[in-house]
Amino acid sequence: MQGIVGSIGYGCGNAVVKRDRNITPPKYTISDPDAEQRRFREAQKTCDLRMTALIEKLDDGNDQALDIFNALQSIINDDAFFGMALSRLKPEMINIEHLIYDECNKIVAQFDATDDTYLKERAVDIENVCNDIIRTLMGLGQDFTEVDHEGDIIIVADDLSPADTLNMKKSAIRGFITEKGGATSHTVILAKALSIPAIVGVKGAVSLISDGDFILMDAFNGTIKVNPGISEIQQFETISKIYGEKQQQYLEDANKNAITKDGFSIDVNINTGDLDGIKNFNADLCDGVGLLRTEFLYLSRKSYPDEELQYKVYKELAVKAKGKEVIVRTLDIGGDKQIDYMDLPKEENPFLGFRAIRICLERRDVFKTQLRAILRASAHGNVKIMFPMIVNLEELRLAKICVEEAKQSLRKEQKKFNENIPVGIMIETPAAALMSDVLAEESDFFSIGSNDLIQYITASDRMNERVHYLYDSCNLSVLRAIRTVALNAEASGIQWGICGEVASEESLIPLWVAFGVSELSVAPFLVGRIKHIIRSLNKAELQKKVENILKGKLAEEIRQGLTELLEGNFN
Ligand code: PEP
Ligand code: MG
Repeated sequence: MQGIVGSIGYGCGNAVVKRDRNITPPKYTISDPDAEQRRFREAQKTCDLRMTALIEKLDDGNDQALDIFNALQSIINDDAFFGMALSRLKPEMINIEHLIYDECNKIVAQFDATDDTYLKERAVDIENVCNDIIRTLMGLGQDFTEVDHEGDIIIVADDLSPADTLNMKKSAIRGFITEKGGATSHTVILAKALSIPAIVGVKGAVSLISDGDFILMDAFNGTIKVNPGISEIQQFETISKIYGEKQQQYLEDANKNAITKDGFSIDVNINTGDLDGIKNFNADLCDGVGLLRTEFLYLSRKSYPDEELQYKVYKELAVKAKGKEVIVRTLDIGGDKQIDYMDLPKEENPFLGFRAIRICLERRDVFKTQLRAILRASAHGNVKIMFPMIVNLEELRLAKICVEEAKQSLRKEQKKFNENIPVGIMIETPAAALMSDVLAEESDFFSIGSNDLIQYITASDRMNERVHYLYDSCNLSVLRAIRTVALNAEASGIQWGICGEVASEESLIPLWVAFGVSELSVAPFLVGRIKHIIRSLNKAELQKKVENILKGKLAEEIRQGLTELLEGNFN
């Protein structure tokens, strides 16, 4: 099977296939409704205890997961809801699994029929809880994510949601294979953060792979082998062993500077955006944090995170960074990331709608709370502020006024912060790229958000594998846009970096170096390898060579030219 490379690496193990876990229970007549009620109470207790055990296993401060599990536990114990099924036992003399299933379908249909995203998500929670209770009543196993699998496993799924991944025993996972998703989907970002190989967009994976099948994944060229022969396994073991040794070497080199052969230094930072990432952050193994996605602080909660909570997180990172830069991106919500309590309108085109800075400039109180927290953290390290999704100078100016107001309020309260905190923007819209000369005059730095920039330039949804063939980093228009940004940044004397996934697309690194990039921000496990590549390059030589390659008109020609260029320098 073949798919799209999401997160590089080799993985092998036995498949655990996530199928549609909702089952249809049998319907039969019962003779003893009281015994049936007792059976329900036992199953309810089992599910409740299981949830308590999960909550106890959570790391301190994992508030999002705690909120989710608490919500599920309250549904398990909701007697008003299950009372509807129980009250039908005596009059109908039907087994309890079927009655729960029936009541569940009714309420889910009601919630689904509304336009309210909050109710729709609760419908999913109710379905999950009912399913668990039904499975327990039928003596079936739990959801695959809750099972402690033995040995190495490869997760195969249609798609994985953040909730799916919360429970997984991550130390056993050797790979992710999903049918859905493009190169910057949620699964991919998660896989990279965990340094686990991922292949996405694999058609038919869920139906063609069975639980327990032995899988070899080559997440360099996107191939998957199911139940291979001995010689294939041996070959795979040799290649992956060599790769493992190289990885170890890169890891040891990650703390050294990335300087090209002709003496240009490039920072290789990390992208992070969850509690684990912050807990595991090691400033000695990178040059700083190039992108802190702050959405995780807002997702899966019942209300906005307050200033203190945010301050604590930003400060922890600032202190751990030991003087290295920490670029905190302000809230980038909307698009595919929705938050119930924000009560955002339902939109036809969420990626072109109310998202990121647009929301922050309207919900000023939310924005200022975050800005105050970031500013206060700047007293403890080299913190920078970055605004997402800017499309014009007006937005940038308004956002900077908000920073000034937040500073003013802190001054009044005599709270410490860095008066000269750098304020930069993400270049992730064609508008920002095309007017980057103007934006550069009022920004301290640029960071190219290629994940969105490619989707907006090529008009192809980054999450949709159907249009993945168009979502191409080597489309000439994308490279021209990035070059324009580079030239405009240079003309204004500001630094520019890349924090989208193309920062770690190996064949493109020579191009970024030739364009004069000063910072690349990538998943932590890739830092050493990217630095290794940079050290093999000569910027002046590349600048001459890439001109020829960029005369190519087809994306494939350009990619081929760049791949050969890299192979000439680095193996
Ligand atoms: C990007 O768009 O490239 C980016 C880094 O932001 P995100 O992936 O969070 O949208
Ligand atoms: Mg983006």
